[in-house]
Amino acid sequence: MATCTKTEKIQLHVPKLEELCEVLQNGLKSNFADAQITVVECPDLSQDPFNFPAKGLCGSPRITDVGGVPYLIPLVQLDKVYDMNAVAKALELPGAFILGAGAVSSKSVGMNAELMPLVVTASEGKLAVNGSYLASINPADGKCLQEKYSDKYRDCDFGLLGNLYACEGKPGKVLEVKASRRTGEYSLVTCLRKTLENHYSDKSLALGGTFIIQKGKAKIHIMPREFSSCPLNSNEDVNNWLKHFIVSAPLVCQSVLVSRDPDLDLRVEHTHCFSHHGEGGHYYIDTTPDIVEYVGYFLPAEFVYRIDRPEMTHKTGRD
Ligand SMILES: [Zn+2]
Repeated sequence: MATCTKTEKIQLHVPKLEELCEVLQNGLKSNFADAQITVVECPDLSQDPFNFPAKGLCGSPRITDVGGVPYLIPLVQLDKVYDMNAVAKALELPGAFILGAGAVSSKSVGMNAELMPLVVTASEGKLAVNGSYLASINPADGKCLQEKYSDKYRDCDFGLLGNLYACEGKPGKVLEVKASRRTGEYSLVTCLRKTLENHYSDKSLALGGTFIIQKGKAKIHIMPREFSSCPLNSNEDVNNWLKHFIVSAPLVCQSVLVSRDPDLDLRVEHTHCFSHHGEGGHYYIDTTPDIVEYVGYFLPAEFVYRIDRPEMTHKTGRD
């Protein structure tokens, strides 16, 4: 990533965790039969089922929206490649632990694919640790092919777009979100986001973190290996190009959400998931509301950084 890439920074509203528990629990109860949010010590995320390269979600929490869907559609811009280590520096947090949702660099991987970033970036004297996964379409059977990024690739690059949460990767206090049996139409992430949007109507808040779908199934998509050669001009075009799958729990999801866009042309929610049974991709919603169970860990971000915001923008393909 060129050092001249433009970065904009805005401070976000950060309520006390106890206040967020009350607000979010009330919101979740309109969408789930059971919902409980408490402040807990972050579980050790280096352990099962997470196996992240860092222990926790704490220390200087921030989010970033890098690039954007306009670099993917209507037609791909292949020169849009970013390095997680450079992103960490742009976030004024070299060595940050970064998680979230993005696309691979097709220059590195040789095709298009979903990326589930989980990276401890490089810092003085320490090499980066890349625990990311990628999910692509298996050319042999047209199904999902999930791989550990570091099994094949050495870099920490990604392409086109990324919605990322960054922190020092330390233990500490976080929000524990438990919800089960979905009664409303919203996904867990959309419900959290809309609750914040409704309660803090004049402020921008963001949450980042991880959650597990413990029971049930979920709808995901994976982008095809080949970029579209004809322009994708509508949500219908995009959905016809994407490959959709129903995948099974347990799924480990990484999520970034923003209650209200402070005029940075943000994608307001983005969640990618991986599993230990070979399925992963871009999460929409569970498809088994009667039995679904979620448990997750989140923190509010103090800042949002907008990196390499597209000059020509549109609202297509942001679901
Ligand atoms: Zn995605």
